[in-house]
Amino acid sequence: MSFPPRQLYYDGKVQPATSGKTFQTIDPSKATPLADIHVASHSDIDSAIASAERAFKTWSQTPPAARARILQKAASLLRERNDEIARVETLDSGKAYTETSTVDVVTGADTLEYYANLVGSGGLNGETSHLREDAWVYTKKAPLGVCAGIGAWNYPIQIALWKSGPCLAAGNTMIYKPSEFTPLHAQTLAEIFLEAGLPAGAFNVVYGAGDVGAYLTSHPGIAKVSFTGQVSTGLKVAGSAAGNMKYVTMELGGKSPLIILPDAELENAVDGAMMANFYSTGQVCTNGTRVFVPRSMKAAFEKRLLEKIQFVRLGPVFDEATNMGPLSSSVHYEKVTSYIRQGIESDKATLLCGGPDKPQVPKDLQNGYWVKPTVFTDCTDSMKIVREEIFGPVMSILYYDTPEEAVRRANDTEYGLAAGVFTKNINMAHRIIDQLQAGITWVNTWGDSPSEMSVGGWKKSGLGVENGRKGIEAWVTNKSTLVDMSGGVPTVFAKL
Ligand code: NDP
Repeated sequence: MSFPPRQLYYDGKVQPATSGKTFQTIDPSKATPLADIHVASHSDIDSAIASAERAFKTWSQTPPAARARILQKAASLLRERNDEIARVETLDSGKAYTETSTVDVVTGADTLEYYANLVGSGGLNGETSHLREDAWVYTKKAPLGVCAGIGAWNYPIQIALWKSGPCLAAGNTMIYKPSEFTPLHAQTLAEIFLEAGLPAGAFNVVYGAGDVGAYLTSHPGIAKVSFTGQVSTGLKVAGSAAGNMKYVTMELGGKSPLIILPDAELENAVDGAMMANFYSTGQVCTNGTRVFVPRSMKAAFEKRLLEKIQFVRLGPVFDEATNMGPLSSSVHYEKVTSYIRQGIESDKATLLCGGPDKPQVPKDLQNGYWVKPTVFTDCTDSMKIVREEIFGPVMSILYYDTPEEAVRRANDTEYGLAAGVFTKNINMAHRIIDQLQAGITWVNTWGDSPSEMSVGGWKKSGLGVENGRKGIEAWVTNKSTLVDMSGGVPTVFAKL
């Protein structure tokens, strides 16, 4: 084991779990265990929520400017410890260190800082309306209470910060449950918050699989659930939360279309399609896995793509040259490779490159969950690999004849997370973006998701948004007050 066992973290310290159950987290590049993780029992979760309720009393009353200073300090501590945290993320998730050291911690700290700055500069202020000479309405934003954050495994610490950043900035407290596949970042984040000055109990961590998440999200002490994961799990969690009248934010999956127009720069179109499919081993919710290419570009696009695919470099995850790691777990490896076999055997798409066989990697990595970057071409809309989220490095190319046809087919999905277009024609770019049914859209780029940009899915891809000014609204409730100074109460119950 590389790391000591993890217990729970609440009330400002490590606390022993009482379930008697443990699970292991695994290094996916080698399939070797990293640490034993102790599972929270129901009474442990009750205790964690009780500590968050106590902390809420003081944290929610702390002035926003003072909260902002503490969260800014936490963002600085995260940046100071960037490389150390990124190393753990790479071991736990399999993501190449070239990614975790430049993206995962950085973009998490950016969001924490963004919300600290927002609330520190009046971002929680309400509105005032002067109704008439002697009456006005004012609104106030109030925190919700104890919130649950449930994370997926593809961006562990970034997801934790995209949830806890606005949650804490707004004056709430949080119980966070990381995915059982990538739990190692969570205690470090809790310790950093405490070191920065967050009160004990304001950010707490419990571990376990879906049953722990289900108990937490349906708990009467939880005011809001912020969930990132698959649509199928999201439907269950949203259903149980809505039944208890809890606030929810759902960041779910997608099967996003990337439309290349005939005038697009070939190099950019190919680079965009590769980033939209192979970055993070294809384990990105917003991936543009349906690549719509004009039929007239077929030969040129496929030729350049095959040339550039040689630049995908699998290998030791800490190697500076490695830009694609393994899939994150054995169960996910089985899922992705079965989709690749489905594409070949049942959908009968044309395999342009890749496939289900393990790629060549050094001997000590051969048990890891490695998969080749895979491209299917001549795909049709009804193929399973085109309709369902694979969440691995698997691109489907679909040829089209007119932009109208491409847009219609792009929208023919139950998902609506992301979409994008590559073109030099600015009018066409706006026209097409306007017609695409997705919450996150890009023109001539793919995947960049800065803190300033509110992101969230349409259709089954989610509910609500994260990040940007709109993101804070998901963590507050509004109170409207009408003040009347006229000296009398208008009444219908006056004497006739
Ligand atoms: P899952 O839905 O399997 O799990 C997500 C989290 O929910 C995990 O922590 C999981 O625990 C927990 N969980 C499972 N069952 C329940 C339940 N009944 N009640 C409460 N919590 C539960 O998703 P993955 O971890 O496989 O993540 C990949 C998915 O996340 C992809 O679909 C991807 O598109 C999506 N995603 C969406 C993003 C967005 O912003 N839209 C961003 C990133 C990913 P455990 O894993 O421990 O069992």
